[in-house]
Amino acid sequence: MKTEFDINTLARKNVRELTPYQSARRLGGNGSVWLNANEYPIAPDFTFNEKNLNRYPECQPVNVINRYAAYVGVNANQVLVSRGADEAIELLIRAFCEPGKDAVLYCPPTYGMYSVSAETFGIEQRVVPTLADWSPDVKAIASQLDNVKLIYLCSPNNPTGNIVNPSLIRDVLALAKDKAIVAVDEAYIEFCPQASIVSWLEDYPNLVILRTLSKAFALAGLRCGFALANPPVIELLLKVIAPYPLSTPVADIAAQALTEASIEIMKKRAAEITRNRSILSDMLKKLPNVEQVYNSETNYILVKFTDANLVFRTLWEQGIILRDQQRQYGLNGCLRISIGTAEECDSVINAIKNIQTANV
Ligand SMILES: *Cc1c(COP(=O)(O)O)cnc(C)c1O
Repeated sequence: MKTEFDINTLARKNVRELTPYQSARRLGGNGSVWLNANEYPIAPDFTFNEKNLNRYPECQPVNVINRYAAYVGVNANQVLVSRGADEAIELLIRAFCEPGKDAVLYCPPTYGMYSVSAETFGIEQRVVPTLADWSPDVKAIASQLDNVKLIYLCSPNNPTGNIVNPSLIRDVLALAKDKAIVAVDEAYIEFCPQASIVSWLEDYPNLVILRTLSKAFALAGLRCGFALANPPVIELLLKVIAPYPLSTPVADIAAQALTEASIEIMKKRAAEITRNRSILSDMLKKLPNVEQVYNSETNYILVKFTDANLVFRTLWEQGIILRDQQRQYGLNGCLRISIGTAEECDSVINAIKNIQTANV
């Protein structure tokens, strides 16, 4: 028998051992009601204005940068646009962390890409679990900071839905002063805009804020995100970004999504999702197999069930796809449900109620 050469032996060790991010799309499912990726349920409409695809795009399309800067109230030189916030998560590692020397720190349960990106680059991970109320354990963070160059905090946090207390973010920024970047992931901030810490940029040279068009802007398929920081940090990130991170159609649509009129529509969308969230949450609280519905400031809610596996599997078989969070730190029994249309929320409730009656 011919023994095949195993190409895996050529791969980097950390890549051989890497478990790729289990994105909602990779997990599959045969759904009609997609509530597992925190997307907006309805596609917004756009036109293609830029048709000259023979030319390379701008690295940092000026319209997109200027409009995003105006939207958040910062200067254009404090904005970097990237291929989704996920690329910005990775650019921070590329710019600040040396394999075998530096570490990144994050606080589970939280977004999975901090870990995946660190692993991909062979960067040590300091994992400091949150306290029981999901706030960062500042004391533990203080004792784990040796060689840490980058701290990820997610506020509001995915998948728990809570805002991180701003005074604790200040504590972490103080600990990290002159030592590490603190990246605050505000992917869901449009659902609780008052909680943004963008105005802190003038006080903290080591603060980076991550943003995206994937959630409240309803453009997950566009792949467009942002890093907000002071100009010296932006300049470092621009050194390591791909030469053409955004294709011309992406920049074209992102610019349209950031006009004042489009931002008003986004705000209406976010308000509608927030209303649906409180209706869904109230209905869930009345179900006997629901142990807890956690408060959320986002477009999803985390729910603890007495029979999470049964709920997940039964709804999956009916084409209602939720996100199982049970392998996350401390989240046994928990499923995450994205807020869809009112009809989609109803179908979730009815499907869960039917399990109840089927079991009696
Ligand atoms: C969805 C999400 C992102 C990724 O956003 P993209 O712009 O789609 O890459 C980043 N952080 C958190 C917490 C998210 O939930």
